[in-house]
Amino acid sequence: MAIKVVERPVLTFWEKTYLPQIWGGLKITSFHFFRNLFLHTAHRFGLFKDRPAAVTFQYPEELRPLMPRLRSRHRLTSRDDGTPRCVGCMLCETVCPAKCITIVPDEHPDPTVEKYPSRFDIDLGICVYCGYCVEACPEDAIRMDTGILDVAAYSREAMRLDLHELMDPSLRKPIEKCDLDFPHKCNVHGGEMKGDWEGIDRPRDRSSATPSH
Ligand code: SF4
Ligand code: SF4
Repeated sequence: MAIKVVERPVLTFWEKTYLPQIWGGLKITSFHFFRNLFLHTAHRFGLFKDRPAAVTFQYPEELRPLMPRLRSRHRLTSRDDGTPRCVGCMLCETVCPAKCITIVPDEHPDPTVEKYPSRFDIDLGICVYCGYCVEACPEDAIRMDTGILDVAAYSREAMRLDLHELMDPSLRKPIEKCDLDFPHKCNVHGGEMKGDWEGIDRPRDRSSATPSH
């Protein structure tokens, strides 16, 4: 195979000063700045509507529209009685390539429900957002459709979503008050078991328990 030797170009005196390159960059930036300034002003007066100007989203006040199939922060769907639809089958934990799901399954009082998670954690610090957990779930109990992308936190522990945040994606740590009634290992109360099944109006027919949230 023939080898082609490429000579290193010799820079002129002006090129070595980098002034032409700086001037070229300024020219391009200024062109776009004044073009957008002119077009945005003209659009306000109904002129040149057919010529689009650059669009800037004022994040975080203004969010860019997301594609419906985009995978965003996880949530657990719930039954009509507000308990998790998850039956603790562990399929999502098993299939997760990042090993960032931790589930503690427990007995459910309803004999038609296999189990339920008394603890369900997802460590977003190591999650790779592959969506395998959603694909593997036979109960449509876990979804990645919250549209929440800002998962930054001040500590590794705060990156770990627990049952509270998974059942209610609007929650952010520190969580002051626990609103979950069913028995669960409650991080708001130091990881102790909290809640009971009394007073929870469980649907008789499991098939009527559609994912509502
Ligand atoms: S999206 Fe992928 S990495 Fe993240 S929890 Fe689900 S299976 Fe695990
Ligand atoms: S979320 Fe779905 S796959 Fe994971 S344990 Fe619950 S029912 Fe099984």
